[in-house]
Amino acid sequence: MKLVKEFPDSGSQEEWLARERAHLSQVLYRYTPLVIDRAQGSYLFTVDGRRYLDFASGIGVTNLGHGHPQVLKAAHEQLDKLMHISVVAHHQPAIELAERIAALAPGKLDKVFFANSGAEAVEGAIKLARYTTGRPGLIAFQGAFHGRTYGALSLTASKGYYRERYEPLLPAVYHVPYPYPYRNPTGADDSATLDYVFNFIDEMLDTRVPPKNVAAFIVEPVLGEGGYVVPPPAFMPRLRTLSDRHGILLIADEVQSGYGRTGKMFACEHTGVVPDIMTVAKSIASGLPLSAVVATSKLMDQWEPAAHGSTFGGNPVSCAAGIATLDVFKREHVLENATDKGAQLISRLRELQRRTPAIGEVRGLGLMVGIELVKQDHFEWGVSGGGSMSQTMTSERGQKTDAKTYKNYIGGHWVESKSGKTFTSNNPAHKNQVLGVMQASNADDVNAAIEAAVKAFPHWRHTPAPARGEIVLKAALIIEARKDELARLMTQEMGKVLKEAGGDVQEAIDMGKYAAGLGRHPHGETVPSELRNKWAMTVRVPLGVVACITPWNFPMAIPSWKIFPALMAGNAVVFKPASDTPIVATKLVEILEEAGLPGGVLNLVTGSGKDVGDVLVKDPRVQGISFTGSTDAGRHIAEIAGRNLKRLGLELGGKNAIVVLDDADLPLAVDGAVWAAFGTSGQRCTAASRLIVDKKVAKDFIDLLQERAAKMKVGDGLQPDTDMGPVINEAALKKVHEYTEIGKKEHARLVHGGDFAGSEGWFYRPTIFADGQKDMRMAQEEIFGPSTLVLPVSNLEEALEVANSTQYGLSMSIYTNDLRKAFHAMGEMQSGIVYVNAPTIGAEIQLPFGGVKNTGNGHREAGTVALDEFTEWKTIYVDYSGRLQRAQIDTGE
Ligand code: NAP
Repeated sequence: MKLVKEFPDSGSQEEWLARERAHLSQVLYRYTPLVIDRAQGSYLFTVDGRRYLDFASGIGVTNLGHGHPQVLKAAHEQLDKLMHISVVAHHQPAIELAERIAALAPGKLDKVFFANSGAEAVEGAIKLARYTTGRPGLIAFQGAFHGRTYGALSLTASKGYYRERYEPLLPAVYHVPYPYPYRNPTGADDSATLDYVFNFIDEMLDTRVPPKNVAAFIVEPVLGEGGYVVPPPAFMPRLRTLSDRHGILLIADEVQSGYGRTGKMFACEHTGVVPDIMTVAKSIASGLPLSAVVATSKLMDQWEPAAHGSTFGGNPVSCAAGIATLDVFKREHVLENATDKGAQLISRLRELQRRTPAIGEVRGLGLMVGIELVKQDHFEWGVSGGGSMSQTMTSERGQKTDAKTYKNYIGGHWVESKSGKTFTSNNPAHKNQVLGVMQASNADDVNAAIEAAVKAFPHWRHTPAPARGEIVLKAALIIEARKDELARLMTQEMGKVLKEAGGDVQEAIDMGKYAAGLGRHPHGETVPSELRNKWAMTVRVPLGVVACITPWNFPMAIPSWKIFPALMAGNAVVFKPASDTPIVATKLVEILEEAGLPGGVLNLVTGSGKDVGDVLVKDPRVQGISFTGSTDAGRHIAEIAGRNLKRLGLELGGKNAIVVLDDADLPLAVDGAVWAAFGTSGQRCTAASRLIVDKKVAKDFIDLLQERAAKMKVGDGLQPDTDMGPVINEAALKKVHEYTEIGKKEHARLVHGGDFAGSEGWFYRPTIFADGQKDMRMAQEEIFGPSTLVLPVSNLEEALEVANSTQYGLSMSIYTNDLRKAFHAMGEMQSGIVYVNAPTIGAEIQLPFGGVKNTGNGHREAGTVALDEFTEWKTIYVDYSGRLQRAQIDTGE
């Protein structure tokens, strides 16, 4: 590789440099000989009029570009009013900016001390920690850069020459290794890396510095100058736990990683860990000198007045620029941009890496991205393809959009469909809001994906299961670290309220962790043979290439239930997600790529059931199909799979029932009914669309239920006061309303709802019908929306007869305080899942999930049987007797 680092000679620049040499200290080293006259946006202009694209952003400072007009305007206005006042008096910009930062900072970090630079903020943090704990010790990490003033330099350990001739530095500073999986001496996996680091720390606390002498750990949540190392997701939580155990403060130095670079305001937000003290600088005022120490009131209030100070810190002009900077962050969606562009950058760099042996690792968070170059004798740069891009186009639905375009993932590459066609994914709460442009794939794409899977399968099959587990675990931890962001995206794409979306993501995390553990579980058994000197045993073997076809109602959980176990079993996967939620599906695939899944092992093809799903199912190279969706589609797929003798797991429709007996805790039963009938707007396969209630308590039950439904707020699931979001699309909305009409015609009594709830999105009011009869269509057919029917019955036997009277059998529940009746119902209910005194929803991933009758074909997902759907059994006999032994004949010898 030849690095071009030559700059054109220029008379005018040379003159300036000569003058600089005469009077400016050379100690401040500058990377280029450019003499800059002015800058605008992403461009720098030299004194002799040349224009350069600025890749350095003033070392991570001008994140909004040079001279953002809104920031300039605020600074100019403040200059005219008050430029400097120092400690002589108070001023408004500092107060207002402190309020804004406190509102953004994680946890209870609500008090701010302003300084001028990152190093000065670190000095402040050191002093605050020592002052408040009365302890001298500070533990920092190797590779860290915290600044070059004396205190900060004592913590810095990124380059030896920073310290040359300056020692002795601050005493009682200790350095420990930073978790750096790629260079970890005991193995590159996360757990080995963390064990190495924490064993080191434990030993240090045992042998060199007792914990009671340590004031603080100071850590960069993403290592900056030390190599843009993103630690394993469990690192910060473990460090937090360790700090808490010993009463040691945790300082997050967010000077490099903060202020939006990683896609969150502060990088520690990705980890869920709230530090005690945080340092912030760089782009906080878009180029004016400003930094901050942020801590809890509890801590800050122990720092007595005048115990620390700064003449220029929190200068009014810098603070005014800081306030404007935050306004721009919000208005221009800077965080979202960092997330999206970062994902694009990583994806493109990974493509490049696959063709460039000199790139050892591509890593990063948001736009804080690094590549690690390793020594190679020779290599050539390739030309990359592309992960996703932004473009303005007209979608198939006729909406003009500049939404991001997402691609298929085939053979480890993000590629466009050969069809040249796209479709859009829209927000059901704002039906005209296009969230993304997706590939409308065709048979050629499916063929390419299967081909890639076939190629990848042999290597993946031979990858040890524990190693497969490491990748799946890493994916689960990445999902965990990004839970909030994924939940928000899910709420936007699928509609369920944010809390429920968080639950959906959590299921994926749980499943990832659980499935990863299966890599170290027995994959077979050894059983006694009837003959001497003969062993008999079984092993699980993967099917080969399996198709995972998923619905939209659990866009993260259901794909995880399928893909994680399928991968753990050693299969290669082609994943076709529902066309209503393809972006969440794409995120899951991106995460598995980031976790290190080799190219081709998982392939994503978006597009319709007809053009993608059907072709996938029919292809003879696909040996297994895992399908969740409607009973009609499942039946169609089963016919194809049956004819071709393929392995098939089906999870289909439901018509679930809650039985409420006259001895039940009625308010508890109503709580359960509200959650089961209207949670996820009734669009759960386990939703309770039948409430079978003893006549003696039916009126009270209905009154209570109606009261609760009347209080429910229907709206955008991102709003904190929303109880129920929209249904998924127009067809679903029409279907729910159709059933309202059917219910009325069948003379069920409409108690609540029964109509639309606003036109901005696909909203329907929570709907309750009473006086239901078991043969009504409303009682027999899956509505899949916020509509439920109360069916009165006289006793338990009738309740069970009604409950069992449909073609479905996924989930049922009974509310009773009579143990005998509960056990009787548990035995008699014809469903795959039974709950007692709990609603029909609430499955946990460590138990099998699935239904009987037309809800499936006998397979179960998750739980101890999670691998069954994706493996064959191989039975092996080893005869080491050295002679022919005939089973069933030579048994007496
Ligand atoms: P769906 O219309 O059957 O679609 C499910 C998936 O199958 C989608 O990816 C769909 O693609 C695809 N598909 C449709 N027709 C196909 C075909 N001929 N060949 C191959 N793939 C095809 O179901 P949905 O509306 O997404 O989901 C709701 C249904 O799923 C409800 O009935 C619900 O009860 C059921 N469900 C069951 C469970 C369970 O565990 N039992 C869990 C969740 C949901 P497109 O999106 O492109 O149409």
